Amino acid sequence: MWIGIDDTDSPAGMCTTYIGAVLVRRLQRCGVRVVDARLVRLNPNVIHKTRGNAAVCIEAEGDTETVFALTCACVEALAEFDDPRTNPGVAVSSVRPSPDFYYAALRDFCTVDEAVGVLESAGARYRGYKNRRGLIGATAAVASDFPDRTYELLAYRKREMWGTPRQVDRSSLFCAEETTYPHTWDTVDRENDVVVGVPHTPDPVLFGIRGESPAWVRKARSSVRSEEPACEQVYTTNQGTDAHLVAGSVGTLREGRSYLVRGTVAGTPATGPGGHVSFLLEDGGREVRGMAYEPTKGFRDVVRRLVPGDEVVAAGSYKGGSLNLEKIGVSRLADAVRIRPPICPACAKRMTSAGTEKGYKCRACGERSREPEIERAERALRPGWYEVPPTARRHLARPLVRGVPPWEQAMLQSGRECGCSPHKQP
Ligand code: ATP
Repeated sequence: MWIGIDDTDSPAGMCTTYIGAVLVRRLQRCGVRVVDARLVRLNPNVIHKTRGNAAVCIEAEGDTETVFALTCACVEALAEFDDPRTNPGVAVSSVRPSPDFYYAALRDFCTVDEAVGVLESAGARYRGYKNRRGLIGATAAVASDFPDRTYELLAYRKREMWGTPRQVDRSSLFCAEETTYPHTWDTVDRENDVVVGVPHTPDPVLFGIRGESPAWVRKARSSVRSEEPACEQVYTTNQGTDAHLVAGSVGTLREGRSYLVRGTVAGTPATGPGGHVSFLLEDGGREVRGMAYEPTKGFRDVVRRLVPGDEVVAAGSYKGGSLNLEKIGVSRLADAVRIRPPICPACAKRMTSAGTEKGYKCRACGERSREPEIERAERALRPGWYEVPPTARRHLARPLVRGVPPWEQAMLQSGRECGCSPHKQP
């Protein structure tokens, strides 16, 4: 059976993955065999999310009624019911619903009624608390399908430590990354000298290690020195897979969805207030603004090096008329040219403009020329992919260290939208 849980936490505490870890142990104590525990990230642009829009799915074998009762009891004991924005959902299904609902919740927006329709058709047991919104994530979790997957080991704090500063040895986290990269990633951001895998929120998570297999995340974990955790859980996840992206085209992007879009840089990138960098991306006469926000740090320098005429593919969420960049692929660099008045052949002084469409004139000797000096500048950018640093990476964004999926590479190379996402399109 598949057990889905969502919407149990608030900014003041708790975490759905912690409830998942507790439930795994309670199920095992009751003789239920746990086959897999999945951390399912959903549309990162959903406004109701507390933090990273995560839901949990536990795959198990046992008696459905017992499991449903245990799951509800666990959520009722641990969820942050007092927060008006916490609306838990629980679903247990012995039939796995079609992944369509998962893809819709991952890439689009869904309603509680749609979730209930899916659960009813599957003959699932379910319970929605308060306004029942958590049923959306719980249903998406039960229906989830990971053609590509990564793993995260999450260590949780003892209850008496919740809300206090976390004791995790910084150098041991850098050591964990150094000894296991590229098989694990994003424990720390070495370029910016920042720890990424230890949260600052008052939830039960002590630290998280992301990687390509349970063995690699455990190996990295063995280097970490910290306060004693209450428990640890390795989750199978859709994090770091780009599962949220679909092939899109400028002019047809929809608010709150995430895309890979092809286009030509149409204006020189500009740095605005707050250090955010923006540029116009054009395709077929239509334009969209690409944004690299200040937290993306050195990635902004890549964007600043773009010049009009560069052909790129850009990945990110479309929000408020902008594509908020997660990564960018440069497929063709335009010639960067500087056009200046020429040097006078007679007296070696630089000429000045003689007026609109009148060419150039030497102020010293009166010599005239029609041709400007065209200087081709060396480009400080190479074709290829560039990404935001770990400290600014979204959970679903696929780090380049994992490679670029064929459909994204095809979009970079083909010069047109190929629409061949490996994942089912909603
Ligand atoms: P938690 O750690 O508790 O899971 P979170 O950051 O994941 O925190 P939630 O508290 O779960 O956020 O809030 C997200 C809410 O949005 C949930 O009620 C979930 O059912 C709902 N939701 C998730 N995806 C979608 C979607 N695509 N469309 C509409 N609602 C969604």
